[in-house]
Amino acid sequence: MVVSEIQHGKLQDTQLSVALLDAKQPCAGATGAGQGYIWLAHRDPASPSWPLARRSKATWQQLAAAAGSSKLGTAMEWQENGSLLLATSADEVAQLQARAAMLQQQGVPGVVLLSPRELKMAEPALKLPTGSHGLLVKSDAQINGKQTAFAMLEDCQQLAAAAAGGSASQPSRLLLGLQEPVVGLQPLGGGAGVEITTQKRRVRARQGVVVAAGVWSGQLLAAATGQQGWQQLLQPRRGHLLEMQPPAGMPRIHTGMMELSYTQHYSSSSEQSHGTAAGNSSSSSSSSNEAVDITFTATTSASGSLLIGSSREFSGWEALPDAAIITAIMQRASCFLPHLSGISAQQLMATTRVGLRPFAVGGLPSVGRVPGLPGVAVAAGHEGSGLCLGPATAELVLHQLLGLALAAAAATAGGGEAGGGVTATELLAAAKELAPERRLAAMAAASR
Ligand SMILES: Cc1cc2nc3c(=O)[nH]c(=O)nc-3n(C[C@H](O)[C@H](O)[C@H](O)COP(=O)(O)OP(=O)(O)OC[C@H]3O[C@@H](n4cnc5c(N)ncnc54)[C@H](O)[C@@H]3O)c2cc1C
Repeated sequence: MVVSEIQHGKLQDTQLSVALLDAKQPCAGATGAGQGYIWLAHRDPASPSWPLARRSKATWQQLAAAAGSSKLGTAMEWQENGSLLLATSADEVAQLQARAAMLQQQGVPGVVLLSPRELKMAEPALKLPTGSHGLLVKSDAQINGKQTAFAMLEDCQQLAAAAAGGSASQPSRLLLGLQEPVVGLQPLGGGAGVEITTQKRRVRARQGVVVAAGVWSGQLLAAATGQQGWQQLLQPRRGHLLEMQPPAGMPRIHTGMMELSYTQHYSSSSEQSHGTAAGNSSSSSSSSNEAVDITFTATTSASGSLLIGSSREFSGWEALPDAAIITAIMQRASCFLPHLSGISAQQLMATTRVGLRPFAVGGLPSVGRVPGLPGVAVAAGHEGSGLCLGPATAELVLHQLLGLALAAAAATAGGGEAGGGVTATELLAAAKELAPERRLAAMAAASR
């Protein structure tokens, strides 16, 4: 996803030529599995990723509006269907109230606390313990990440073809190398650019290279820089997401939803504590002994499928569906949506999506120039937020590597704010925390 955004922005806004090199094909990684939540509800305003999320969400919204009913617009399946966090105990209800106040204070539109009765009326499919509450954020949205990535690539191919004007002698502005793993990156010195070696050829990038290879970026950068810390920084965190037709008689789910405990993955304190656990391990095998985390999420896709999630585990580099995990997700989901009970893992194996989230020790992505590799930037480590954070990540990388201007935040005709109200200065301040040398140093400090 991140690479699609970068590619899209770069071809659209400049006269540069772009080479997109992928070990497999677009969406072979985590992007093919993502649920597509473009949410603020579960995030922590104290995290440096907050301004990226706000700005990205606004960019997605503008992109969807501009794309309209074009092929890209249709593929995006942009739905402003809102988000719903579910609190099922007195302690969680108190947390939910505090979160509602925090989001309102941040100026997030459409934040509403739902009483048990209002919750039941909003989502009749839910069956929750007495006293459960919901936090509805009406302005949260979702996309179809996989379709969006493919449609963006198609847009770029069309732009490149148009620029070549159908002339065979005119070199295309887009070189697409699929099934072509990058195996080496070598700065050439003297302003000559960077040489990229793939299993098939060498490509010279005069202006710069962005390594946006998800969790695999760690291996690539460790080999290119000789700094093994890159392999420790980025870790595969496998996730399952189940896709199915809603069972007969089940009321439609209107909002995207998740249980409140999901927010633990996005708190600033979690960013610190995960760091120590995963940072101690090697990158080629299971990176910690953490048990599989199953947290209930559910939404309806634009085409009417139910998307039910999800799992999180450090279990190595395998990205195949596991029947035991599918069963555990369904058991958890049935506690919230009883119509789902009785559906077996075997019925869901073929439509289950599995991806390796690019977990970064410290909980923050690395975005910016790579120390020791002139002309090379990285954009990786977005864990469970790469679809949401893609647009601001792309903006930052293109600014840092190519000097492209960051748009100022300004009021839009629709009454919203371009950039979600996040100014270029605020985005650059957040970027300091995401700088690769900062992320590597934070990891080293946490594992001491
Ligand atoms: C179950 C699940 C649910 C999720 N839900 C959400 C959600 O609701 N909202 C959200 O924002 N995010 C969500 N995510 C997270 C999101 O999908 C990821 O953060 C995002 O897709 C990461 O994108 P990426 O481009 O960095 O990496 P990837 O999508 O993993 O792409 C990496 C690419 O690099 C290629 N590659 C690997 N090695 C090389 C090499 N040597 N040379 C060239 N290419 C290489 C791969 O083939 C792949 O195509 C979810 C993830 C999962 C697994």
